[in-house]
Amino acid sequence: MSRFWSDLASSLTPYVPGEQPRGARLIKLNTNENPYGPAPGVLAALAEINGDQLRRYPDPESSELRSAWASREGLQADQVFLGNGSDEVLAHTFQALLKQDQPLLFPDISYSFYPVWCELYGLPYATVALRDDFSVVVEDYDRPAGGVIIPNPNAPTGMILPLSDISSLLAMHTDSVVVVDEAYIDFGGESATGLIQQHDNLLVVQTASKSRSLAGMRVGAAFGHRDLIEGLSRVKDSFNSYPLDVVAQQTMLASLRDEEWLQHCTGRVIETRTRVVAELKEMGFEVLPSAANFLFVRHARQAAGELFAALRERQIIVRYFNKPRVDEFLRISIGTDNDMDELLAVLKTLI
Ligand SMILES: *Cc1c(COP(=O)(O)O)cnc(C)c1O
Repeated sequence: MSRFWSDLASSLTPYVPGEQPRGARLIKLNTNENPYGPAPGVLAALAEINGDQLRRYPDPESSELRSAWASREGLQADQVFLGNGSDEVLAHTFQALLKQDQPLLFPDISYSFYPVWCELYGLPYATVALRDDFSVVVEDYDRPAGGVIIPNPNAPTGMILPLSDISSLLAMHTDSVVVVDEAYIDFGGESATGLIQQHDNLLVVQTASKSRSLAGMRVGAAFGHRDLIEGLSRVKDSFNSYPLDVVAQQTMLASLRDEEWLQHCTGRVIETRTRVVAELKEMGFEVLPSAANFLFVRHARQAAGELFAALRERQIIVRYFNKPRVDEFLRISIGTDNDMDELLAVLKTLI
């Protein structure tokens, strides 16, 4: 607390990201980073950045990148909004589209940044309980709302909703915006971007951080009807005209040019995930069905908090949320096969 803080700054409970330890030789399975690194062309693009490009302001509209990303999704450039990571895209979405008189709806177990943005922007919200098996009860969203936001696959459960359920949500809320946060969609799910032409109330948000191994670069996007994109741009241009620097624009373009690399790396993660699920189940873990690059697991006889601490002592970091309904679980990112073998070996000694 400081006497210099505004009432707003004093009242906030900020989001706490997973730790990013420095220097230590650790197996880091706590923030869903991709172990395989960005496409080779990304590093080449980085090497080509020159002083003149750095001297000047970047293109405030990121026009080339918007066009390239739009065409990958079968959309027009004016159906794409870009931001400094999808967290920034989502923050603008809360302010530009989801701040309404009626409450915003999202699952009770979901991305823990959502309530933080609600507090920051003063937006009413209500959480909708998942079933005991952590699946989404789509019918429970059939009530007056100022909007709906849902990660698909959900985080931290990893569970995916079929597009037919997304369509049901869109049909229930034709007068408000339904946001599908697809941070993990490239790990085996089907994107809702194909529904955009039929639904002017759908906004799909994606990120380069997970599947494209560009968490350090901070690139995120939203796709939707041009009116939704214009609303987002109005907030962006009242906040920061240049959210994507020239390096982010150029490297993301290079990432989009190498679809094969993306498919190759996500395919490897999926293969490792399949194998690790089987081995964890063998050891007595319950593993929620994951369509993401992480697993949400619990063990009948081992407290998650204790496992988390014991793993940490052995230089393996996973994520533990000490919160109702999920405090029996660990969230484990899928690393390389070697990382996962070490994890499994250590878990065998602990259980
Ligand atoms: C990681 C994540 C994001 C944010 O990713 P950025 O790095 O800010 O692009 C958004 N939503 C969910 C559900 C995430 O897990």
